[in-house]
Amino acid sequence: MARREARRRGNGNGAPEPIRRDRGATILGPRNIPLELENPDLLASPDTDAGTIPNLKFSFSAARNRLAAGGWAREVTVRELPVSKTLAGVNMRLKPGGIRELHWHKEAEWAYMIAGRARVTGVDAQGRNFVDDVGVGDVWLFPAGIPHSIQGLEEGCEFLLVFDNGEFSENETFLISDWFVHTPRDVLAQNFGVPESSFDNLPPDIERTHWILAGEVPGPLASDLVPSPAGVVPSPYSYRLSQQQPIKVAGGQVRIVDSSSFPVSTTIAAALVEVDPGGMRELHWHPNVDEWQYYISGRGRMTVFAASGKARTFDYQAGDVGYVPFAMGHYIQNTGDEPLRFLEMFRSSYFADISLSQWMAVLPPELVKTHLDLNKKTMAALKKDKPVIVK
Ligand code: MN
Ligand code: MN
Repeated sequence: MARREARRRGNGNGAPEPIRRDRGATILGPRNIPLELENPDLLASPDTDAGTIPNLKFSFSAARNRLAAGGWAREVTVRELPVSKTLAGVNMRLKPGGIRELHWHKEAEWAYMIAGRARVTGVDAQGRNFVDDVGVGDVWLFPAGIPHSIQGLEEGCEFLLVFDNGEFSENETFLISDWFVHTPRDVLAQNFGVPESSFDNLPPDIERTHWILAGEVPGPLASDLVPSPAGVVPSPYSYRLSQQQPIKVAGGQVRIVDSSSFPVSTTIAAALVEVDPGGMRELHWHPNVDEWQYYISGRGRMTVFAASGKARTFDYQAGDVGYVPFAMGHYIQNTGDEPLRFLEMFRSSYFADISLSQWMAVLPPELVKTHLDLNKKTMAALKKDKPVIVK
């Protein structure tokens, strides 16, 4: 703690300086103090950090926001955070009645509702439909290629979308209005069996289709349940994550949602982690894939251990995206005084992690002691049950 205080020690003007004990010196040149205050572990990195590591942080606040009549959206993809090849994220806001246009895309879409409520729709290849209202803490998933829409209800809404390809762009989805205006009128007339004049009210400028349009708040859910002769989708596209009983541990709690609890989520797995003040998501790694993180509230720091003597520490706060390349060791410490809440996301059908403590605890003790020369007390402190989050 004293070290972190020392690192933050300023020059009297509230500016932090890259000085620790006898190392470092004050900054004389241009600087961005608010940004440096957000990133104390980059400004004066811990003694344990070493080597070259790609950037593992990008804030939605530094992403271009695209504004539309019904709301806005900003994205953090491989273009903003080049290491994030497996997953891409979009933060979207819909005003009351605002509609994310009927559309589809090549990627599966996983979502977490941050604020407000929305009505979501989808239709599968057999014509089976799905309509549901989702609220704070709910999750949805639209499989790749499945057409869908999202509409803000009375209070509007804001949510996080996660796509199973870092190359995804919110600007490159298949929009229903885009297709209509790029199809010859006689073809539209023939397809629907109506006169060409039926399409006179389509967007007049083929460069400006809807994307996020303004709309009226729809009526009760029951009024929007259109009977399809094919019935409804056999496995729902929504999941009430907030109603799942969390795994309660010493320093917080965790909810996991993957294909075992939410069958349609075959390519995206997630954990919603809540770390109490003073707590820490334990030292661990994931044996299957990269980890994409979204910080919902609070502040935290993470050191990523990349083997070959390389490690780097990053600081995160609400609205940031973090990333951990496949198999790299890491922890996430709550460095604030409120609960730290974040999502761990994986391009996988299942969630999996390996606990450093549990690994060491269930091996022959002499084998472990020979590596690290740990004393009896430390050996006894190893946990055979995965701690997940420590106090
Ligand atoms: Mn979509
Ligand atoms: Mn992790």
